[in-house]
Order: sequence, then structure tokens, then C-alpha cells
Amino acid sequence: MSSPAALIALPGIEGAFSYLIPPALKSQIIPGVRVLVPFRSRRVTGFVVEVSEAARENATRSIEQTLDSGVALNDELLRVTKWVSEYYLCPWGDALRAAIPAGLDAEDQFKFCLGEAFSSQLTLDESGFPREVQELLDSLEESPLSARQIRKRFSLDPDGVEIRQLKQRGLIEYRAFLQGPRVNEMIERVLHLSAEARAALSDDSLFAQISTKSGQRLIRELRDGGEDGVSRSALLRGASKNRRAALNELVEQQLVTEERRAVLRWKPDAMNGFAGERNAPLNNAQSKALAAIAKQHDEREFEAFLLFGVTGSGKTRVYIEAIERALTLRRTALVLVPEIALTPQLWGRFRAAFGDRVAIQHSAQAPAERYDLWRAISKGEFPVVIGARSAVFAPLENLGVVVVDEEHEASYKQNDSVPRYSGRDVALYRAQLNGAVAILGSATPSFESFYSVDKGKLTLLTLPERVAGARLPRIEIVPHASEEDSEDEEKSEAERVLTKPVREAMAAALSHKKQIIVLQNRRGYAPFLICDFCGKVQECPNCAVSLTYHRPGKILRCHYCNHRDDAPDRCPSCGALDLSLSGIGTQKLEEEISELFPDARVARMDSDAMSRLGAHAALTSAFQSGEYDVLAGTQMVAKGLDFPNVELAVIAQADTELFHPDFRASERGASLMLQLAGRAGRASENGHVMIQTSAPDHAAVKAVQHANWMEFASSELPNREKGKFPPFYRLILLRALATDEDRVAKAMLILKRKLESHRGVELLGPAPCAVAKISNRFRYSLIVRTSKDTDAGGKKLRHAVKTVLDEAADLPELNRVQIEVDVDPVSLT
Ligand code: ADP
Ligand code: ZN
Repeated sequence: MSSPAALIALPGIEGAFSYLIPPALKSQIIPGVRVLVPFRSRRVTGFVVEVSEAARENATRSIEQTLDSGVALNDELLRVTKWVSEYYLCPWGDALRAAIPAGLDAEDQFKFCLGEAFSSQLTLDESGFPREVQELLDSLEESPLSARQIRKRFSLDPDGVEIRQLKQRGLIEYRAFLQGPRVNEMIERVLHLSAEARAALSDDSLFAQISTKSGQRLIRELRDGGEDGVSRSALLRGASKNRRAALNELVEQQLVTEERRAVLRWKPDAMNGFAGERNAPLNNAQSKALAAIAKQHDEREFEAFLLFGVTGSGKTRVYIEAIERALTLRRTALVLVPEIALTPQLWGRFRAAFGDRVAIQHSAQAPAERYDLWRAISKGEFPVVIGARSAVFAPLENLGVVVVDEEHEASYKQNDSVPRYSGRDVALYRAQLNGAVAILGSATPSFESFYSVDKGKLTLLTLPERVAGARLPRIEIVPHASEEDSEDEEKSEAERVLTKPVREAMAAALSHKKQIIVLQNRRGYAPFLICDFCGKVQECPNCAVSLTYHRPGKILRCHYCNHRDDAPDRCPSCGALDLSLSGIGTQKLEEEISELFPDARVARMDSDAMSRLGAHAALTSAFQSGEYDVLAGTQMVAKGLDFPNVELAVIAQADTELFHPDFRASERGASLMLQLAGRAGRASENGHVMIQTSAPDHAAVKAVQHANWMEFASSELPNREKGKFPPFYRLILLRALATDEDRVAKAMLILKRKLESHRGVELLGPAPCAVAKISNRFRYSLIVRTSKDTDAGGKKLRHAVKTVLDEAADLPELNRVQIEVDVDPVSLT
């Protein structure tokens, strides 16, 4: 009789591997379960992706144990992760790992420990060891050490002669130790009254059966504790001997039963104050949008909608109603929002609408909290999940609606690690698999989305007006000399940051007790420290970028590698004392505003000021409740916040947004400016937005001025087509990194030549990246692209890249060169 074996995907490695299933694990090994398996010389965590007779063929080794006590990824998530691995060209194991909470891996790590011969030989030579070796042995007696720890803590080379000799003599060993998982379930013992006891309670005969006062008291407490039972540790906290004895007796009498239950270490904040939202009738546009969505719900067919409406037009309300409908159909809902939008405000609205049915996932949660939530969601305890990018993998079953709010946001793309996936696009794929409705919402939809509307892939729903009569703000362009132009004019420093019209408008708003938001999308004090004498700009020693001056501590910091240094007094190149700061960061902006308006209470919001957990939420609510008059900061101030008392929004330097070396620069810049505009005058008649720029005729500035996003998109799209960029072309960015620049350049040329032999695939580059070096590694990029007209779905493109990378994998020229593959890149730097 033959028995099935398992195919297992491992993170970081292409393909899947066959393993035998030990009889004892037979019932637990199903697709989606995480297991510990031996691989090469150590044990690692993998995912069962298939159980079949066919898998037996190459299987020689066995699965060692299962992890997660019975929680498995469902079939849909197996398909989703498979798709992610094929579409984004990464190992399936990496996609699977992205779909579960962090901190769950168990794997062997090799460490040094004492060998078997240690105790027998020790006394013989004890005195003969050099001091470091003696100290090492003492340390190893306490705990094993990795090679790195040995190098760092003892001045010993783990490959050196001393260590080798110790190994030969059997005094120490180098072997595998199982590490992790870092997060585990927390089990609680819960006590209940037994059925018998409950029956006796009703006719009062119960208390007669119990001899002690303590016992009777315990029964009363359990009775009052309700259906869910009472935690044993809570019941016995600080308990006397009598009470413990009484409890044991009750358990023996079978009046009290004990259950072991997993604790949910996630306690949502109580949120009230939004409860009335759903009493207001929907307006016409909202009703129309919902009618279209409801029709699809009822037909249980996939359809994706683009819900296009300015901030405050009632999109969130549409999401809430659509989710309610999915729930009545006994289906579930997933809501993705950009990380920064996970404010108490939004959460409050969802809590008010869905109460205990909604869970939230975000990066500030502790690993244990996230793990428990994940398990609870898998068990169906929360039919609504709201979260940032990675929540797209939430283990919901039977999705009925998938919402992606602010669908244009670049943060939906994971750039910095594998898989480099787009949460927005994975969400669409999940909706498709589930026959669900997808709603992509935005005030400034991505040009890709408009293109999809044209191609019939997205259905456009529009909310043309702000609800409740709130009007769009007045948008004013304020020409502002660029820094080079203004040198000869006699202007004070303050005047250069904020122009006269802006200062006057700020003064007026402050005098009416209205709030102001000022955006400058650059943190720090000044982005450049320049020598006036030799013209040299202070640069990072590890990266090809200038260092940013930060006022507190007077330091220069690299925003790429975190290098920091005291700011020099004189130019390190020529020794001159004439160093000056150039450009405007948020710290400088904050300082200028405080100097101009000494009575105003000014707060700064950027990632430096908001690094503490909860700082963002705290400042948001402080500003909302009027503790500050002015909020100055980076793009954070433009996103997801609802401040009814803000009347004036200022963009200090629109140029920073518009002149990036990226084909999406004007789309991004205009989108950010319009989002900020959405913050002004949400509840008032006098919303006012002022945009300072040296390029008042720039298409993006005009788009913001006319507040006509659709028109802007149609005017920009032809440029995209001409430039062979998305949405007309599909791109894969190949990035090569290495410490040796020649190697990087050569590796790229090899890839280029190989790609050239694939017909229909076009190439741009290779060239050094916009930031040509980060952390001492040189970076080159090569853009590979195909037209969507001739390569529907991008199959040809992915095939070419995959083939070439496979062929090149073993070439000596690509040794020590890291190749990153970014499908549908959102950043070309
Ligand atoms: P968006 O998500 O497009 O920014 P919201 O859904 O947040 O818009 O709506 C803006 C404001 O208008 C919110 O305070 C919301 O509670 C309110 N609102 C939404 N729909 C209605 C409606 N039909 N009637 C009255 N108020 C509404
Ligand atoms: Zn650096």
C-alpha cells in the first residue's frame, strides 16, 4: 500500500520539495500547514503545498513536525500566493511567508557548543589554554554561541587554528540548534459551571451541596461571570489556601469544569461618537454607486469598480454600506488603507458600524497581537478586516467585498523586500478568485486605473460632490522665486520660505481662530550643507546623496543608510569657514512659522517627530481638538485626516514634488497637492489652498488649480504612451547591486545582451540608478518592457526575464552581484 507524500515550498528557494509523511503526522499534513523539515544540513520552516502520491517519487527525508497547531492557509491563499510568485517572479515560499505574520519561523542555526570530550579532558589541560580560549569555554558552558558572536566577543577567528584544534579534540562542536518561533499562542485556563451545576442552580439545591463558604462564593462568581467562563488565574489571584482547596473540591465534584482556551492578545480601543453616521440617508450619487455594487453582490460575480470622488464626497460611507451588504449575504470583507490613514478616526467609524465583527491589522501592533488576530481571523471570528498592505493576505474565507482606499498610493507596493507585490493588485486577484466585488476608491485615481476604465476592466462610479454642502476650497497659485533666482533680492530668510500673500492669509486665518496645515515634503532642517568658497556639498560617505542637516544636535544625517555625523565648522575639502545651509526641511519650516507667528501653537509632523509608537495618533487628536493652530509637516499631513477647523492649507514648495527623475512625478505631485487641498475647509465655506511654486504653468499645478483630475489624466496619458511607460507598457525593473562598480556594470551588460535576443521585449538602460550608491553598494538598473497591445498579461515579458535570469544564475560574472527583480515598479530610484 503506497501512501501520499508532501510537496513543500521553502522561503528563499525556487521550487517545491518532496517529503515523506511520518504516520503519526498523517492526519495533520494538509496543504497550507507549516512544517519543520530537514533541508541540506539544517532544519527550516516550509509550507505544505500539495499532498499526493505523485510527490512520493523523489522523497527521501521526512517532515519532522507541524507548526501552528492546526491552523492552515486556506486553498484560496495557496492560489493567491502561487499567483504572487509567478507574477512577481519570486519563490512560492517567499510569497507564502509574506502571507503569515512575522516571527513565526522556526529553523536551525549553527552554533558552537561544548563537545562530548569536554568534561573528561578538561582537568588535564585546563591551565594550558590561552586566556581567550578559557573565556570562550566558560561562556560555552552557559550557552552556545554563533560564529559571529565568537568573532565579536572574543578576539578569536571561528575558522582559525585555535578553534580548529578545540574541535579536533572534541572539546567543542559546531552543530544545529532550533531557533524560534518567536511568537506562540498563549493558553488560558477557563472555568465554567458544569451543566449539572447549572441545573441545580435554578432550584437552589446547589448551595446545599457545598459545604464551605469559599466554595459557595466561587459558585456565585462563576454564575455572574457569564457564558464565556472565568479565567482561572483571575479567580485565584491572591487567593487564600481555603479558596484554592474549595476550587479543587468543586472540580472533583464535577460542579466546575476547566477548559484550555487561546487568549486573544488584541484589545481594540473603545471608540464611540460615530454611531449616528448610518442614520443619514445616502445622497443620489452614493445610492447609484451602491445600486451597481449591490447588483454584483447578488450575482456573486467578480466586478471591480473605481469609486472616484474628492475627499469628503462620501466614499467611506459607500464602503461601509457595501460591507454591510456582504455581511448580510454571509460573506466577509477586506479593507486596505495606506498605513498612514490608519487613524483613530477611520477606525472609529468602522467600529461604530461593525462592532466586534471588525479587526484591524497594522505595523505598530506587537507580534503576539498580530499572531492572535491572524489565528482568530482564520477561525472566522472576524468577518471584516481592515489594515495596511500586508493585510491583503488576511485569512478570510468567502470574501464578498474587497476595498482598496486611496488606491493610487505608492505605499501599496512593497519595494524593499521579496515579494515585491502590489497590495492593490493582489486584492483585485483575491476578489476575482472569490467572485467578489472590488472597490478601488480615490480622489486622484492612478492613471493605470483610468486606463483600465477605458479597457472595460474597471467600472467607473463617480461621487461628484462633497456631502452636506461643504464646498471645495479656493485654490490659489502663488508664484515663488526658486532659490537660485532670489539670491540677488534683498529678502529676509523668512520671506523666502513663505511669500507675503501666504503670510497674510495665515495671519487672517489665525485671527479667525482657524487652523492651518503647511506641507513641505522634506524632513530635517536643510537638505544641503554647502561650502560657499569651493561649492562642495557635504555627501554621505556610503551613499551617493547629500547629507541632510538636522537642527537638534546639529548633525548631518543620511536618509538612506542612517549615517550620522556632527556638522563640521569648516569645509572638510578646502577648510573655509563659509558653510551655509540650503533648501527647506520641515524643521526649518516649523522654526520660520514660529518666528513669524510667535503666538501661534505650531506642531510638526514627520517621520522624525512621529517615530515613537502612537505619536501620530496622539498628535492627530491633539490637533483635532484644537491644541495647535498650525500643523507643519511632510506628506503625512495630507493623508487620511479629517480636521473640520482647518481653513487654510499651504504647499510651501510644490517644486519639490514635481521635479523628480520619475515618469510618475507630476501625477504623484498633483495627487499629493489635491489630497492636501481636501483637508482645507471640510466643514466650512472658506476653504483656501495656496500653492507656492516657481513653475505656475506646470501641467500638474494647473491640474490642481482647476481641481480637475480627469482632465489632467487625459492630458498626461499621451506622454506616457510616447515615453513607452505604464499604463501602456508593462515594466520590469532589474536592479544590480555590488560593492564593485565594474562588476555591477558588467553583470547588467550580460543581462542586457541576453534579453536582446527575446523579440518584442524592449530595453531601457542599463544605467546607474538615480541614487547610484547606497550603503557602499553600487546600483545599476535596467528597464525591461513590453507593450500591453502586443503582450497581453505580460506573459512574454515575464518569460523573457525569467529565462534570462535562470540562464545567468551560474555565470561567474554574476557572482557576488545581487539582482533584484521588481515587476510593475513604482519607484525607479
Ligand atoms: P470620503 O471617504 O470620500 O472622504 P466620507 O465618507 O468620509 O468621504 O464622508 C465625508 C463626511 O460626510 C463624513 O463625515 C461622513 O460621515 C459624512 N457623510 C457621508 N455620507 C453622508 C450622507 N449621505 N449624509 C450625510 N453625511 C454623510
Ligand atoms: Zn548614506
